[in-house]
Amino acid sequence: VFPQAGCDVQLSAATTARVSFLYTDEAPVAGVAGQALPEKVKIVEVGPRDGLQNEKTIVPTETKIHLIDMLSETGLPVIEATSFVSPKWVPQMADQVEVMKGICKKPEVSYPVLTPNLKGFQAAVKAGASEVAIFGAASELFSKKNINCSVDESLQRFDEVMKAAKEAGVPVRGYVSCVLGCPYEGKVAPEKVAHVAKRLYAMGCYEISLGDTIGVGTPGSMTLMLEAVSREVPVSALAVHCHDTYGQALANILTALQMGINVVDSSVAGLGGCPYAQGASGNVATEDVVYMLHGLGIQTGVDLSKLMNAGAFICRSLNRKTNSKVAQATCKL
Ligand SMILES: [Zn+2]
Repeated sequence: VFPQAGCDVQLSAATTARVSFLYTDEAPVAGVAGQALPEKVKIVEVGPRDGLQNEKTIVPTETKIHLIDMLSETGLPVIEATSFVSPKWVPQMADQVEVMKGICKKPEVSYPVLTPNLKGFQAAVKAGASEVAIFGAASELFSKKNINCSVDESLQRFDEVMKAAKEAGVPVRGYVSCVLGCPYEGKVAPEKVAHVAKRLYAMGCYEISLGDTIGVGTPGSMTLMLEAVSREVPVSALAVHCHDTYGQALANILTALQMGINVVDSSVAGLGGCPYAQGASGNVATEDVVYMLHGLGIQTGVDLSKLMNAGAFICRSLNRKTNSKVAQATCKL
């Protein structure tokens, strides 16, 4: 039996060890089955857009600006700032111009915004956006229910945006949603995802982000989907965007890394939810992705402690608990 004091000493030693994990640089390790993991991964922070858009609370503009400014100091290379959609559809993003004008843009950071149409694109450029994103669904029913047209029709609607972006020299990122499942259709065929990804790539998108919008994928379905997509689009132009609804996001990301993907979307504090599943968790937390990547010896350029400060700030502002396991494990109770 240990004396009480001894237990206390052991406990505090364990706590110190746990905290110091955050600052350890570990040596790169080989991937499963001998597949090499990337040396570097680009993290695309989507919290201020994808995350806040799916939060119930409407966040004050100053809070958004402060969050983005804090994220800009962490070393993140890309921070999706807002969305130029009609405030009728997405009231959470109605302050897009104020946000774009209010943030302190760092030259080494890219701040893409979502632009669903030419009007949105023009407003985005006018507000200072130098990169934009467009989106298509891999599911016909999802497309029909959300925008009342087929997947191919929805992609045609982006022709004008692509043309204008090309003329203005603005890079365009393409999103494919529902790549591992759809709230209406259920399973989505990998070939369908490959078709949409190929179209977006052919239209001129420099990067295609494959989104498990409802977070139902597993490493099994991720593998099958990526095998199909990588037959049509080079893996160097692919990114994964995982939601953690079923707790599979980190496993799915690791699977993607093992298949050669080195761009990962995530959301600080796991901001966001799933509009199709009440109470479900949102995007995978950036803190957890960074912790895993650094543990694998993969460089991200991100300072985890600064990132955790940004996560703590937005959770305090929203009066909500963080969805990051790393932040939960290290926060003082
Ligand atoms: Zn998302």
